[in-house]
Amino acid sequence: MKIAIGLDIGGTNTKTVIVSENGEVLLSHKSPTPVITEKDKEKIENLLINNLKDFLNEASAKKVISGAREVSGIGIGIAGLIDRKHGRIIQSPNISAINGLAMRDIFEKEFSLPVTLENDANAYAYGEKWIGAGKDLDNFIVLTLGTGLGGGLIYKGQLYEGPMEVGHMTIVPSGRYCTCGSSGCLESYASGRAIVDRAVSSLEKGTDSLLLKCCDGNIYKITPEVIYETALDGDSLCREVFREVGQFLGIGIANLINILGIDAVIIGGGLIGAWDMFIEELSKEAQKRAFKLLSTDVKILKTALTKDGGSIGAAGLLFSRLGGVSDQAAS
Ligand SMILES: [Zn+2]
Repeated sequence: MKIAIGLDIGGTNTKTVIVSENGEVLLSHKSPTPVITEKDKEKIENLLINNLKDFLNEASAKKVISGAREVSGIGIGIAGLIDRKHGRIIQSPNISAINGLAMRDIFEKEFSLPVTLENDANAYAYGEKWIGAGKDLDNFIVLTLGTGLGGGLIYKGQLYEGPMEVGHMTIVPSGRYCTCGSSGCLESYASGRAIVDRAVSSLEKGTDSLLLKCCDGNIYKITPEVIYETALDGDSLCREVFREVGQFLGIGIANLINILGIDAVIIGGGLIGAWDMFIEELSKEAQKRAFKLLSTDVKILKTALTKDGGSIGAAGLLFSRLGGVSDQAAS
C-alpha cells in the first residue's frame, strides 16, 4: 500500500497526517506552528524539520510506517503565495519568517522523498475534490475560515493553480488594516483574527457582554473559541459578530459567483463549528447581490473533511502530482 505524508502549516497550528492512496487517515497530529521572529529566521527551517522527524518517529513506533507501506512523498500546504516552479514560498502574511524559504528543496534533501508545495487553501480545495463534499462537482470554490481566510478553486474538475487569495479582495474602502499590507480586505472582516478584533474593539468602546467575565477579565486574551462559546450562551455581541461574518462572506461569495459561475461554495476551516451562526446571513447576502441566473442553483455546503482537510488535501495532491491518483482533479 502506498502512503503519503501531508502537512498543513497554518498561522496558528501545523497539522500532519499520514494518508493512504484512497484517502484514509492512518495517523494525525497537531502542534503549534513555531513562532519565529524575522530576526531568528534561519531557525524555522530546523524547527519544521524536527517537528516532522518527531512525527515520523511516532509513526514508525506505532507501525503506521512499516515495510509493507511505501511512503510516496510529502505534500505541504502552507498559507501564502507559492512559487510552484521553484517550490518556494514567496510571501506568507501570517508566517512572515518563512518568506522566501525554498521549502521543497529543503524537505526533499532532508527526507530523500518527493515533495510538493501548494497554498494551504488550494490543498484543502483539492482534498474536497478528492474525497470530500466536492467529489461529484466540477466547478466550485472552497473557503477556509480559520485564523485567516483562504480560498481554492476547482474549475472543470482541476485545481486552479493560481493565488486565489479571496481573503484579500477589498470589501470595505479604507477599512480595517490587513496583515497583507492593504486595508478593508475580506479576511479583516471574516476570519478568526477578525472576530477577535471586532469583539475586543466593541468591548473597548464599552459594549456590555458576557465576554467581560471570561479570560480572567483580560479582554486581550479572548480567542475565537471563547467568542463562539459565549455566542452559544446567547450573548448578543458575540452573536452579532458571527452574523457580520456571514454578511461579509456573503458579499465576497456574491462577487465570486458573478466572476466564476461556480456550482457550489464549500466552507471549511477552524471556525466551521459556528456554521449555524453565520450561514443564514451569508446565504441571504449572497443571493441578494449575485446575478439571479448565476446564483439560484449555487449550493453552499459545509466541508465534508475533518479538521485535517488541508493536510489530507496536501497528501492527495502529492499522489496526484506523482500520477498516483486516478481522477483528474489536479495537474
Ligand atoms: Zn489583505
